[in-house]
Amino acid sequence: MSSSQLLMPRSLNKRPSTVPSLSSNTRGHQVYIETFGCQMNEYDTELLRALLKERGFRFTAQGEEADVVLFNTCAIRENAHNRLYGHLAEFKRAKQERGVVIGVLGCMAQNLKKDLLEERPFIDVLVGPDGYRRLPDLLTDALESHKRGMAVDLSESETYDDIVPDRTEGINGWIAVMRGCDNFCSFCVVPYTRGRERSRDPKGILEEARRLADQGVRQITLLGQNVNSYHYDQWDFANLLVGVADISGIQRVRFTSPHPKDFPPALIEAVAQHPHVCRHIHLPLQSGNDRILERMGRSYTQADYLYLVEAIQRKGPIALTTDIICGFCGETEQEFQDTMHVMRSVEFQAAFVFKYSERKHTIAARKYPDDVSDPVKGQRANRLVEWQKRVSAKKNRSLTGRSVEVLVEGHSKKSQSQWMGHSESNVTVVWDRSETPCPVGSLVSIIVDDASPSTLFGHLVPADS
Ligand code: SF4
Repeated sequence: MSSSQLLMPRSLNKRPSTVPSLSSNTRGHQVYIETFGCQMNEYDTELLRALLKERGFRFTAQGEEADVVLFNTCAIRENAHNRLYGHLAEFKRAKQERGVVIGVLGCMAQNLKKDLLEERPFIDVLVGPDGYRRLPDLLTDALESHKRGMAVDLSESETYDDIVPDRTEGINGWIAVMRGCDNFCSFCVVPYTRGRERSRDPKGILEEARRLADQGVRQITLLGQNVNSYHYDQWDFANLLVGVADISGIQRVRFTSPHPKDFPPALIEAVAQHPHVCRHIHLPLQSGNDRILERMGRSYTQADYLYLVEAIQRKGPIALTTDIICGFCGETEQEFQDTMHVMRSVEFQAAFVFKYSERKHTIAARKYPDDVSDPVKGQRANRLVEWQKRVSAKKNRSLTGRSVEVLVEGHSKKSQSQWMGHSESNVTVVWDRSETPCPVGSLVSIIVDDASPSTLFGHLVPADS
């Protein structure tokens, strides 16, 4: 693909007026990008690469070779903050020794802008999630004139719909269908860092999905902070999901994340019925206690959540996974037990458990003291993790002797003599290589011989058996 093809017109065949012309000065500058956080951030890095490539920047996987070091950051969890500060300290030396330009992008740049600039004067460029188009110019100014620059205005309309992400090869692709969030859960910084909710034109999304299918992508994950809120003219998220799943060449479609407060029946139907939509829903619970849910601003109760789970489970086997926050402001042991109760009732396939950590500028930071001690948060998190391990192991072992359909992704990380892929429930599956070929991107049947909480081990069923 030539660099001029990287930015596709929204409708008419002309370049968007927001895209500046090529600058010969930036040609050859090597950029190293490190991405923290969720799949949305990975997707944003693909957008950033496209914007930089268009302006002649090149990329390196080695930070020590780079002229520009960029960190695309996440503001959701404390450990992402700590990792960034560690990496910044490392590259501060590179700046002193060879004048590397350092940029902090994404949610942390947006949320901590003033603090970051004041406390770390070696940062040259700060760009929030709605300011990516300005990054090439800001880097050029920093490289040529040692100017510090910042683009942290939030937009009500930016969706980067005209940009073709610069992705690395592989059978997995991600598409952001919307940006921002209007939900303002009290613990969450996203509405402040990614701004108001905006849905992309479905035409652009379907075009992007077709392009990915042509490039060999077999599994697409549709991304949004709350995909249930997606709407564009007559389109809702269920229509969009089915539209993507109907594209020839796409074997599997997943999505993350829906909000339990507004999960539409049509979406349950699409998951249950469409042969290319995975029978797996990630349904963040966060807490099982009504008072804590209210403090979190989640707009559902334990009963609402369990009612929704029941409606999903009525449609046959659909794997459920979740997110839980332990030790949110004021959470008592009794209230934590309500979360345990939901875990026991639902028996999730997997749960991502986090200790609550206060984020600057959120409603919870302004309204509620972070008063559950760290040891108590840690102990509650461990209890949930231990419980979940037992449930995941039980569910996985129940598949022993049964066949699961797996999308082949490549060699296993541990051994070249094994293949690896994921089941429809998104569980890792590993099996020995045999004479029978397993082309990457194909669907194969694996008989499960053994299982751990996170992995199924099995053998291939030959295609003609
Ligand atoms: S739905 Fe809540 S948790 Fe999710 S991004 Fe929006 S505010 Fe954050």
